[in-house]
Amino acid sequence: MRPLYCVANWKMNKTIQDSVNTTVGIIEGLGDESEQNVHVVIAPQFLAVAAVSQRCQNTVVHTAAQNLCAEAASGAYTGEVSAEMILDAGAKYVIVGHSERRTYYAEEDFRVGKKVARALESGLVPILCVGETLEERERGLEEERVGSQIKIALYGLEAAKVEKIIIAYEPVWAIGTGKSANAADAQKMHQFIRSLLTRLYDEATATKISILYGGSVKPDTTASYIEQPDIDGVLVGGASLESDSFLKIIEAVKESAQG
Ligand code: PEP
Repeated sequence: MRPLYCVANWKMNKTIQDSVNTTVGIIEGLGDESEQNVHVVIAPQFLAVAAVSQRCQNTVVHTAAQNLCAEAASGAYTGEVSAEMILDAGAKYVIVGHSERRTYYAEEDFRVGKKVARALESGLVPILCVGETLEERERGLEEERVGSQIKIALYGLEAAKVEKIIIAYEPVWAIGTGKSANAADAQKMHQFIRSLLTRLYDEATATKISILYGGSVKPDTTASYIEQPDIDGVLVGGASLESDSFLKIIEAVKESAQG
């Protein structure tokens, strides 16, 4: 059975202390549960990654960075943070190619692919975000767009590496807008992504890769996604900022997973 994920993307929110406080709320809310098939991941702003990772030690919660440098482990790249530095801060995952980075920082598919490769090379698990704009969906181009994002991001990677990544399908029009894709439409895209992975690699590889849905997920909509055969968790922005709301989402994932 594929692992399920609840990933909190806190974007550019919270001071270091606020990030630690919310993390403590999540850890305490989860209680003494041992890590099961549902993995909980928090992605705070860069400066809080070390403190949050430290607080997550010996708990079932893991951390992610929201971005990484595509280039090197260290060197003359002012303002950048490398994969190795993220690992050093205690994170295990990194979000790559989030639509806000693609839109506001001109991160195109080729750069996203370089970041995926860098993350894998270092031992970080990349959470590769893909998704179409509203205009692309209205023109019926959603599969073409998502397909090309994935093909470019994974170009040159062999199956043994690709099976380590997580993919998050996040339609751009659903992020932070309150408009979410309905579960059936999300499942259709997830099935498309899995069949693309089968064509690019093989069925065994495609079956191993967790594909998350993201885009205005709320506690009361979470179950409808997890019930779909190809949706293996959620990537949550706004509704993950408060520990109570994120805990409800984690609970909904666990309940739906138990069936
Ligand atoms: C996100 O940031 O990846 C996201 C899905 O945000 P929201 O849940 O707020 O739409």
